[in-house]
Amino acid sequence: MVSQLKNRTFSTNNLSHFMTKQKTIFHPVSCRGIGVHSAKNITISLFPAENDTGIVFERVDLSQDNLIKVSVDNVVDTFMSTKIANRSGASIATIEHLMAAIAACEIDNLHIEIDGPEVPILDGSSIDFIKLIESARLKEQKAPRRVIRVLKQITVQENDKFATLEPADDFSIDCTLDFHGRQGLMAEKVAFEGSSQSFREEIAKARTFGFYEDAQKIFAAGLGLGASLDNTIVIDNGQVMNPEGLRYSNEFVRHKALDAFGDLYVIGHPLIGCYKAHNSGHTLNHKLAKAFLSDKTAWRFEPLGDSTEWHPTVYSRSHIHSISA
Ligand SMILES: [Zn+2]
Repeated sequence: MVSQLKNRTFSTNNLSHFMTKQKTIFHPVSCRGIGVHSAKNITISLFPAENDTGIVFERVDLSQDNLIKVSVDNVVDTFMSTKIANRSGASIATIEHLMAAIAACEIDNLHIEIDGPEVPILDGSSIDFIKLIESARLKEQKAPRRVIRVLKQITVQENDKFATLEPADDFSIDCTLDFHGRQGLMAEKVAFEGSSQSFREEIAKARTFGFYEDAQKIFAAGLGLGASLDNTIVIDNGQVMNPEGLRYSNEFVRHKALDAFGDLYVIGHPLIGCYKAHNSGHTLNHKLAKAFLSDKTAWRFEPLGDSTEWHPTVYSRSHIHSISA
């Protein structure tokens, strides 16, 4: 079965919406905001980076061992946000909404200076990060972009929750969210396909959310200290407390899709495959990414665009290993 899939010919014609070369930004940009968990005021500055750098954070408030590369193996905590750290313990929390924006802009290489332990929450969605990146102008680089093709289904489960990656001819996300009748909230679902443009239009503005009755418990855990109606949808007795209301009727599940988009881009390459999930979160997304990468029969690198420009020998096993090392 696996060998059949490995030999299967997939069309890349429908992937023309993907950029074929790696990208970075043209000039540095920065923004400042509060961390939703730490309540610290934090500045991030995005700088261009060379081909094949990936996304690298630099904790400029720390004097040594302050570089942290975004990778699945560097994820150290997934409780209420995705947090990465290097071997010395320098960490960055709440990277997921920025990562979703970086994925949406199809950025491959960035150096990000940050002066604290958490990415600012801004409005709780990805839209302001997308605007920030676009204001820096996007710069095409020389190296070809690599996508990862999903070759077989990988599923992770936890009670009634699951997340799956399965083969498909394009990238898509299909999420459902069931509150099990909590405060009378209805189940929600959302699906979007393919392009970054559809992410931008349908998902990017969906904000993070929480229940007012959970606030004290979250504060006691030392989290959510920077949360407010400016950056979080707060639900109380089934009602949205934010005076402006919701941006989409199913904003909660759209935010789950946003989180998944950002968490999957921690893999380091765009995926060609379908992500399906029910009641997913950062923990399940990370488990899925880890299980997927560790099964070498579940994926392969593929070229984008004109395959005559692609040299398969570039993608040796040692290279493949390096993305999960
Ligand atoms: Zn989120």
